[in-house]
Amino acid sequence: MSAKLDVVIIGSGPGGLSAAIIAKQQSKTFLILEKGSNTMQGIIDTYPKGKKVYPTIPKRYTDPFPVDELKPPPEKIPVEAYIEQAQNVVASNDLNIHYNEEFKEIEGTYPDYIVKTDKGSYLTKNIILGFGSNIPNDLGIYGEAKTVARNIENGEDYIGINVLVIGGGNAAADVVSSLSKIKREAKDDDTSVYWANIRETFEINKDTARDLGEEVLLGGHIKILQKAIPKIGEVDADGIDRLYIHQTTSSSQGNDLYLYQGMSFPMKNVIACIGTHGPSAIFDALNLQQITCTGAICKIAKEGERLLMLSDYLETNRDGIFAIGGAISPSYMEIGSDGMIKEKKHSNLIYTAVVDARKVMDKILES
Ligand SMILES: Cc1cc2nc3c(=O)[nH]c(=O)nc-3n(C[C@H](O)[C@H](O)[C@H](O)COP(=O)(O)OP(=O)(O)OC[C@H]3O[C@@H](n4cnc5c(N)ncnc54)[C@H](O)[C@@H]3O)c2cc1C
Repeated sequence: MSAKLDVVIIGSGPGGLSAAIIAKQQSKTFLILEKGSNTMQGIIDTYPKGKKVYPTIPKRYTDPFPVDELKPPPEKIPVEAYIEQAQNVVASNDLNIHYNEEFKEIEGTYPDYIVKTDKGSYLTKNIILGFGSNIPNDLGIYGEAKTVARNIENGEDYIGINVLVIGGGNAAADVVSSLSKIKREAKDDDTSVYWANIRETFEINKDTARDLGEEVLLGGHIKILQKAIPKIGEVDADGIDRLYIHQTTSSSQGNDLYLYQGMSFPMKNVIACIGTHGPSAIFDALNLQQITCTGAICKIAKEGERLLMLSDYLETNRDGIFAIGGAISPSYMEIGSDGMIKEKKHSNLIYTAVVDARKVMDKILES
């Protein structure tokens, strides 16, 4: 085993990289473990090709962007350029990243933790869990696992076919406007992007809404399906897996009779962006305390969901183990210095991951 490190950082997303930059500047010993083969693999895996990256700062935050090197520029560059920016930061700071190495477990106690991966073991005083939240939710429809996509791998594959995008948030909106643009720019494509949400309203931020609005005004073929519920998977006469989705068009007609309007898409033409579930099972395996939302305790998390408990500087109940960024979004339980526990909203944004890294590193540096 190597000499004891000051901090092992799990994940090379904006949060993990920011922590590493600060550690480097302060001459602390560190290592980043990244299960993918690239810097910011999480972003590479989830953003549609060419998506603009917004430097969004949530309303109640007032701090300036704390790690300039990773700040997305105000002119909203495509994700490929942002990844290149991060790769340059890694190269110019000579950040120690072990690619293709997956974090598995932690042994020992503070200040002598052993971080175990699929390739080795590392002795460290502190650990930052910056592994994001990228376990996609399922639709719960028979057959979806085989064919329904979670993102656009190659936008050109969707030219000339009607596509169904499911989800009511920013990720779905980004996919809808990217696909619409690809179709609009392709010659003679009069097929549409159907955008289905289970609710009547969509929850997207201002920047994403602006992109969508622009797409519609430029003649994009976007068709919105509100209150549309994916119902069943079926195999048609040609042996194609299809997904049937329906909208309630009227209230009960009496005698338990309802009228629905439905559509059926080949599953290979469906992209489901219905959120991710947090890494609660991983937190359990690491013996990190989580609190179950019951009654009126939680406004963001649903009844029964378990939220990680963190101090106001994002330390878990195990000394020296911290959690940041997407891993603790969209909310966690904060235990204040007065001992009061309350749900804390935590938007999943590049800015918040970087602010978290600054907060945690400040704590590590003072210990
Ligand atoms: C489609 C889409 C569009 C978005 N657009 C914007 C935007 O315009 N502006 C904005 O501010 N935010 C945006 N976001 C959110 C933003 O990308 C996230 O908030 C941010 O990436 C979170 O950073 P992070 O470092 O916490 O985690 P991630 O970026 O998810 O990084 C986690 C890293 O950890 C690695 N990892 C995971 N598990 C392990 C393991 N066991 N061992 C080792 N490594 C592991 C992953 O491979 C990954 O590289 C968007 C998100 C999506 C999905």
